[in-house]
Amino acid sequence: MRQLVILGASGSIGQSTLKVLRHNPGCWQVLALTAWRSLDAMLRDCLEFSPRFAVMVDESAARELASRLKAHGSQTQVLSGAKALCEMSAHPDAHSVMAAIVGAAGLAPTMAAVRAGKRILLANKEALVMSGAFFMEAVRDHGAELLPIDSEHNAIFQCLPEAIQRQPGFCDLAGAGISKILLTGSGGPFRYTDINDLAKVTPAQAVAHPNWSMGAKISVDSATMFNKGLEYIEARWLFNAAPEQIQVVVHPQSVIHSMVQYKDGSVLAQLGNPDMCTPIAHALAYPARIPSGVEPLDFFSVGEFSFIRPDVERYPCLALAMAACQEGQSATTALNAANEEAVAAFLAERIGFMDIARVNESALLTFGQHSADSLDDLIALDCAARARAQDLIKALSR
Ligand code: NAD
Ligand code: MG
Repeated sequence: MRQLVILGASGSIGQSTLKVLRHNPGCWQVLALTAWRSLDAMLRDCLEFSPRFAVMVDESAARELASRLKAHGSQTQVLSGAKALCEMSAHPDAHSVMAAIVGAAGLAPTMAAVRAGKRILLANKEALVMSGAFFMEAVRDHGAELLPIDSEHNAIFQCLPEAIQRQPGFCDLAGAGISKILLTGSGGPFRYTDINDLAKVTPAQAVAHPNWSMGAKISVDSATMFNKGLEYIEARWLFNAAPEQIQVVVHPQSVIHSMVQYKDGSVLAQLGNPDMCTPIAHALAYPARIPSGVEPLDFFSVGEFSFIRPDVERYPCLALAMAACQEGQSATTALNAANEEAVAAFLAERIGFMDIARVNESALLTFGQHSADSLDDLIALDCAARARAQDLIKALSR
C-alpha cells in the first residue's frame, strides 16, 4: 500500500484529500497528518486514519494532541515544530506528499519532498511562485514527480500529451503543437459589484465564493483575482510557458477548469463540477482513475457557459501579478510575500479591500528589480517585502 503524507491536513484541501481516501479504502496508508494547531480536527482524523505520525507546528497544541490521543489508546506518534514537517515529507516510507499548507510556510516542507524525490501533489501554489526556477530544477534534478492539484493546472495537465506531462517545467509547448494555455477563472464574488463599492466590501463578503468552498486566504485571493495571477505564474513554471502562451478567461460557471489550444484549431478542455476532490483523486491515482465521490456533471442543469475578458480596473491585483511574471523571479516573490501580509491585514479588518492592491503594487515597485541568485536570496527578499508591506499596512490602517 502506498504511504501518503498530508501537509496541511486540517485545511480545506487536506480535508478533501481525506474524503477521497474514504472513497478508496485500502488504497493508501496515511503515514503522517500535519497541521499548524487545529486540535479537534487532528484528533478526529488521527483516530479515524491512524497515521504513524501527527505533526503540530505549535508546541502546546502538539502536547495536548499527544495526551488526548494517548487517552484514546492511539499508537500515533506526535511531533512538533516546523522541522518535523520536513522530516515527514522526506520520510523514506512516504510515496506521495500532499503539499496543502497555505502560503510561504509550505515552501520548506514541499522542497524537502522534492529533494527526497517523492510524488508531490502540489496545492501550495505560493511555494512554487516564491521559488520558481529553483523549484522546477530541483524537481528535475531529484527525479521527483510533480502533479498539480490546483484545479486549473490539473485540468491543463490532463489536456496535455503524455510526453509533456512527464517533463514538467522543461517541456516544449510549441514543439508539441500547443499554441496557448487558456486559464479560466470565475471572477469571484465581486464580478458584478459596482467598482465604486469595492473599497467597502467586508472580509465576510470576500470569503463567500460563489462556486468553490476554500480556505480564507485563497478565497480573498479569488475575490481580488490575485489567485488567477498566482496561477498565471504557476502555469508559467509548471508548463514552461512564455507569458504570451497563457491567456486568462473569466468563466463564471467554473465548469470548464481550463483548456489547451493546439495549432490545428483544436481546444481540449477538462470539465466537471467545481469540487477539489476531482483533481486530488486524479493526482493520487495518476495515471489510473479512481472514484472521487464527486457528483457527475449534469449539462442540463448547467444550461449555459459564458466567457468574459478580465477587467484590470476591477482586478488590479491580476494585472500586477501578470506584470511581475514578465519582470521575473524577484518581482513574483516580493509580490507574493506582500500579498500574504495584505490579505491577513484585510481579514483582520486593518485595511480595506482595495488597499490589498496598493500594498502589492508598492512591493513590486520597491523589489521588482532586485537580484536573487539563490533560494536563500529569495527567502531574504520575501522577508524584506513582508517588512515593507507591514510598514505600509500600518500607515494605511491609521
Ligand atoms: P486552509 O487555510 O484551509 O488550510 C491551510 C492548512 O495549512 C491548515 O491545515 C493549516 O493548519 C496549515 N498551516 C497554516 N499555516 C501553517 C504554518 N505556518 N505552518 C504549517 N502549517 C500551516 O487552506 P486551503 O484552502 O486548504 O489551501 C491550501 C493551499 O492549497 C493554498 O496554497 C491554496 O492556494 C491551495 N489551493 C486551495 C484550493 C482550495 O480549494 N481550497 C484550491 C487550489 C489551491
Ligand atoms: Mg485554482
